[in-house]
Parts: sequence; structure tokens; C-alpha cells
Amino acid sequence: MKNSNPNILIIYTGGTIGMIKNPNTGVLDTFNWEHLLKHIPELNEFEYNISACQFNTPLDSSDIMPKHWMQMTKIICDNYHKFDGFVILHGTDTMAYTASALSFMLQNINKPVVLTGSQLPIGVIRTDGKENIINAVEFAAARDLEGKPIVREVAVCFGQYLYRGNRTTKCSADNFNAFIAYNDEPLAVAGVEISYNIKHLLRTLENNHFTPHFNMNPSVIAITLFPGIKPQIVKNVFMDPEIEGIVLRTFGSGNAPKQEWLINSIKEANDKGKIIVNITQCQRGLVEMERYQTGYQLFQAGVVNGKDMTVECAVTKLMFLLAQHRKPEEVRKMMAIPLAGEMTV
Ligand code: ASP
Repeated sequence: MKNSNPNILIIYTGGTIGMIKNPNTGVLDTFNWEHLLKHIPELNEFEYNISACQFNTPLDSSDIMPKHWMQMTKIICDNYHKFDGFVILHGTDTMAYTASALSFMLQNINKPVVLTGSQLPIGVIRTDGKENIINAVEFAAARDLEGKPIVREVAVCFGQYLYRGNRTTKCSADNFNAFIAYNDEPLAVAGVEISYNIKHLLRTLENNHFTPHFNMNPSVIAITLFPGIKPQIVKNVFMDPEIEGIVLRTFGSGNAPKQEWLINSIKEANDKGKIIVNITQCQRGLVEMERYQTGYQLFQAGVVNGKDMTVECAVTKLMFLLAQHRKPEEVRKMMAIPLAGEMTV
């Protein structure tokens, strides 16, 4: 590898971007990296040194599990000193979960990790995959005047935008602009020029070194409240001995029905050391439990304010913190503060 040009590692995990139509069934099957390269010869024209590796079995992202996040973390960790930036090709369906999980697992990454995918397979004429990969590589290779990476965090590149990974949501099943960060500004926009939102990019302190984490504890659940939700079902979930963390998707600014059974279930679960986090079902805005009595009762019962975390982020952050065997009080504290730019403060 040449030293002067950025070294980029593309990690292909699967998803539509590498899929090809099975001529017998018409169904999209996962294909491989050579297939991608054949369809994007432009990758060879970059002055960057691009290498690639792939999952043995490329996955539809519906099959992505915490063990695959560990695998991605391991690949990045093993190659951390050899590469200046990483691009992860991933299915779009669960990309926001993977991006959120990695933002915690790759603590103080200090290098770009850019996830991208596509809505149409790369072999299709109107594919969006080509633009997405090319932009993702550009974002991963960008350097400032001192030669340091401009992006030093986990991000999602889709269409012309680069977003903070743990702020993203898949917002469309068929539009090329499939991702959005409802509560955050883009980190960069690729127009005629690429412009970076420099003030908004994450910067870690000099002596905060890259610390990869490999464990996640998936004993969590997300509950979406709705009028008429049955007490017994909710109580069963709260009392399930396997459940250690609950993301409660509440109404508006963090409100829930004023029902004794709900508050009692929350208090009991809290006393057992379970962590209950309040996020809103609204796409924009944040939880403010002091606004209404219907929200304040949750605060009084010990529910943590998840502010404007997405459900993808709240779930994976809980998995991450619960895996570290911290005291419940400490997990509650850490859920309420940003660890990787995941909430508005
Ligand atoms: N089902 C596919 C996946 O998430 C969809 C896509 O890649 O866009 O793997």
C-alpha cells in the first residue's frame, strides 16, 4: 500500500447493494464483492488504496444480530492501524441499528466508519448503490489540512447526505433518500463540492484512545404505547425475569396514560434494577417529562429521560451498557447523557 494516499477498507456484509436476481425464482439473492467491483469500475480510479473483505455469508440485514456487530467491530479493530477509513456495505433495513450499535462499541474510534447500502441492486441500471458507495468512500477518505480524517465517528451515507449513525432512521422503503436524522443536522452534504458541517462533527479528546467493546446484552425490549394497550400484556413484559431494560415509546413529549397498573409495574421493575427509558413516538422533538402530569408520573416512578434518541439508538445503547455489568444507577445515568453524540443536549 502507498503511504501518501488514504487506505480504505470496504467491509461487505450483504444487503440489496450486492444482491442479484435469481433467474429461476426472480427473488433477490445475496451475491459477492467481485460482483460489486465489476459494476463500479470507478472504485479503481480513486487515488485511494481500497481493499475489501466480506462476510463469509453475506446477509440480508434482517438477519443481522449482535454477533455480527461484534464481527464488524473485530474486523475494524484488527485493521485499525492499517487503514485510515472504513466503509461498511450493509442492508438498509437494519442499518440504523448497526450504525447505532457500532457508535458505542467503537468507542473513540477517531477514524471514519461510513455505512452505506442501496435501494436497488448494483447491477440494475438505475441503481442508487453506485453514488452511495462512491460518496461513502469520499467521506471515509477525506482529510483536513493536518492530514487527519475529517470524519472521526460512525456515520451513515445515503444519497448526498452523511449523517451521524446513531441519529439515523430508515424513513422510506422505496425512496432513494431512504435515511434521515430527524433530530440532527447532516454531518456533510455531497453536492458539486462536498461540504462538511465541521462544528458538528464529533471530536474526542487527545488522550481518549480507541477502545473497542465486543459484548452486547440483548435482554431488552421496546414497547410502543397506544390507547387501549392491555395492562396484563404490559405487566408480563415488565415482570419477565429475562428483561433487564425497557425502551418505552411514549406519546408526544414523553407522556403515558395515568393508570395505576402502569406506574406500579414501572416502580416494581425499577426496584428490581431494570432500566426503563422514555423516548417519544414522535419523529421530531424530545422527551420533557416535566411538561404534563402524564409525563411527570413516569419521572417520579424512576423512568430515565431518553430525550430525542431514536428507538434504534435507545435499544442498542441499553444492550451496550447492560453488557458492561454496571450498577443500575450508573446505567440510568449513562442512558441520560450522550456517549457518542446520540442525543441533543
Ligand atoms: N432487505 C434488504 C436488507 O436490508 C434491503 C436493503 O438492503 O435495502 O438487507
